[in-house]
Amino acid sequence: MEKRNDQLRGAIYGLAVGDTLGVPVEFMERGTFRIEGMQGYGTHRQPEGTWSDDTSMTLATCDAIRQTGEIDVEAIRSAFCNWLFHGSYAINQVVFDCGNTTGQALVRGYGFADFKANGNGSLMRILPLAFTEADAETIAAVSAITHGHAISVCACQIYIECARTLITGKDLAAILRNRNEAAPFHRLSQLEELEESEIRSSGYVVDTLEAALWSLLHSHSYAEMVLRAVNLGNDTDTVGAVAGGLAGILYGMEAIPAAWLETLRGKDIIEDCLF
Ligand SMILES: [Mg+2]
Repeated sequence: MEKRNDQLRGAIYGLAVGDTLGVPVEFMERGTFRIEGMQGYGTHRQPEGTWSDDTSMTLATCDAIRQTGEIDVEAIRSAFCNWLFHGSYAINQVVFDCGNTTGQALVRGYGFADFKANGNGSLMRILPLAFTEADAETIAAVSAITHGHAISVCACQIYIECARTLITGKDLAAILRNRNEAAPFHRLSQLEELEESEIRSSGYVVDTLEAALWSLLHSHSYAEMVLRAVNLGNDTDTVGAVAGGLAGILYGMEAIPAAWLETLRGKDIIEDCLF
């Protein structure tokens, strides 16, 4: 149980640090910037160490699991609403970033299931489920609070499988290599061979998943992996968060550079939400 708690802490801090590293350069094109550590301001004009919606919604999910002791979709939805409408799980209760699909789904009370709604808005917050018994159907239901299309759901299910592979200490590279997915996930088995120029890091959920796993397969430390992910550009905070969560499991909390953790804001919020 203690090992699992350490891994959860590593995953959530890993995700939060990855998100935070990407916040100042969100939407910037690859090659026009280089992130090497914590930096303030930029795209969202936030002070150094500020995370965004990715971390807030991940923490909301954790907190709902902590409070109910299970995966209760309505409790998770209501935690998301507390974030969006009341600033819970946000630093200084300021929500400065929310995806369109997520915002509209929370306002109207049910998720989107059309092809256009395949941004990375559910992938970026699904990680806590890797530390529960949640099956494929439950993962789908939690994704569908905002993103119910099969591609978003499948991306979340694959990501949770990858996280669980790392939690149990198995070789994710070997498992990915042998996967035989149908489109649009067919490239997951080829990521080791792909060049950076072939990896898109957009807000499309498949691009984000590929970018995060590509970063994992081309790195040897927590710092290298999240910097590689963020420096891909475009949806930097979410690619950083999705990669950072896996990096935190793979390399452990102690591998996150101390200076980055020091700078990270809102650590008290994180500690209150861990389950
Ligand atoms: Mg964000």
